[in-house]
Amino acid sequence: MKPLIRLFPLAIVCFLAAVILSTASAGIATHPRLVVVITLDQFPHEYLARFEKHFGPGGFRYMMNGAVFTNATYKHASTSTGPGHAVILSGTYARSNGIVTNSWYDRSQRRRVYCVEDRSAQLLGSSGEGRSPANFTGLTYGDMLRINTAFRSKVISLSNKDRAAVLPGGKFANLVLWMKDSVFVSSTYYAAALPPWVQTFNASGKINSYFGAVWEKSLPASAYEDVDRDDAPYEEGGDGLGRTFPHPIRGKDALSITPSYYSALLSSPFGAEVLAALAKQTVTAERLGKRGVTDLLSVSFSSPDYVGHSFGPYSQEMLDMAVRMDRILSDFFAFLNREVGREQCLFVLTSDHGVSPIPQFLKAHSSAPVIKHFSAATIVAAIESVLTARFPRAQKDSWIEHRSGGSLFLSQPALAAASVTAEQAGRVVCDLLLSRPEISCAFTREQIRALTPTSMLERRIQNSFFETRSGDVVFSIRPLWTEGEDEPGATHGAPVESDAHVALMFRGTGVRPGLYHGEASPADIAPTLSTLTGVEFTPTLEGRVLTEAIGAFEPGKKSDVTGK
Ligand SMILES: [Zn+2]
Repeated sequence: MKPLIRLFPLAIVCFLAAVILSTASAGIATHPRLVVVITLDQFPHEYLARFEKHFGPGGFRYMMNGAVFTNATYKHASTSTGPGHAVILSGTYARSNGIVTNSWYDRSQRRRVYCVEDRSAQLLGSSGEGRSPANFTGLTYGDMLRINTAFRSKVISLSNKDRAAVLPGGKFANLVLWMKDSVFVSSTYYAAALPPWVQTFNASGKINSYFGAVWEKSLPASAYEDVDRDDAPYEEGGDGLGRTFPHPIRGKDALSITPSYYSALLSSPFGAEVLAALAKQTVTAERLGKRGVTDLLSVSFSSPDYVGHSFGPYSQEMLDMAVRMDRILSDFFAFLNREVGREQCLFVLTSDHGVSPIPQFLKAHSSAPVIKHFSAATIVAAIESVLTARFPRAQKDSWIEHRSGGSLFLSQPALAAASVTAEQAGRVVCDLLLSRPEISCAFTREQIRALTPTSMLERRIQNSFFETRSGDVVFSIRPLWTEGEDEPGATHGAPVESDAHVALMFRGTGVRPGLYHGEASPADIAPTLSTLTGVEFTPTLEGRVLTEAIGAFEPGKKSDVTGK
């Protein structure tokens, strides 16, 4: 008995000491000093599982040892870059944030509008029309972070693509940079001039330094047996890359730098290397995470998207791109650990959309006649004739003012001439479309407004609908139906799981590691970050707080696993 009595007070002393020590350290690390949101353009969740055995310990695996959401899907119809990036830090879909597609038809101007165009802004660092979030009708987590800290927090957003930099930056970003040929540029929306350190980075010639580089396989030959053959006829390999390894990075002209050099660079892992170099320079120059307040850095790597489009998700190139992305991330995480300290960081890794298999890849490996073709011209002709038969009128001009993707704008002069409303004509068009085998759904404006979704497809259509930017009729093509003849290369953008199911992982201060198989979405990032950092939600929230992955904040129960 005696030893127990002697031990007990000792245990109390140890417990109190632990509480005092952990309280002291928790006071420093309750909120992260730096939130890092990494987006990989076109990165389906399944890449993590399929390529995992080729990953090292410090890149994707660092994130995979955090909170991993295995069923994160976009609940919108337009699974492309602009809409995806508009969701990631706003926690809202196009119905609220207005980014319905990468570009849409503007009826009042009778022209297509690019999602981040801004005719009142100028580029910084190059010439031409500027970019801004003027068409983005939401606010982001970063905006709320800035407001909540009386604008002491810095919000910086970087990407190879303008829309992938501008949209996560929100309205109040301090600095937004993207690639334009040989330099990183910004816009007068954000500032009057590029910061001197960006000018120095541009003057270093980093982007042009890859001219003549060669993209070779980074793994032993046997590793590539898991994927498709290298020389597949349905790969694109444009801009001088060719279909097989090794891929020269020089564009179509071997002797001098032309615009196609920059396309080739982006369609290779070197496009991601360039952006990672800029991201590191940003952290150092802007002293992110070292200013006594939470800063936000968003970095969106576009090269996985270009490689995926050109070579497809089952290509040797995509495997190699993922492996090199893993090494780039590992290097970036190690850099952040040295500069800021991992325990001061909160990391998110996600993607703006997935990708569907190249149709010819499916045909090459299976004789099953699953891929079917439709003709958009045939559908348009059928719409014209059904409307003319139903609503006779004198004029013979088209009933359709504009069609892009699954959005159809009816001609207002034609409607007026036939004394019919867009809704009446739209219902006739929907009936026709729904009778066709390639169409999965079709709605008029009124139907979408009144819709109480009973399926994921209906929910996606409604989330992608914005009154002044969507058509009078909105419809969707069934999976495995492709327009025209099979082109080489892969694509995405449809309301299907392969395009909607993406990587989503959190790691760092306040995150409870684990595999989470419940329903989740990139729309959940903003509310979850808000909760983890004590920031007010964005005004119109459509995502949820991922409470299952939020660790206890009590002293001594810090859930962060720092990897040390
Ligand atoms: Zn894409």
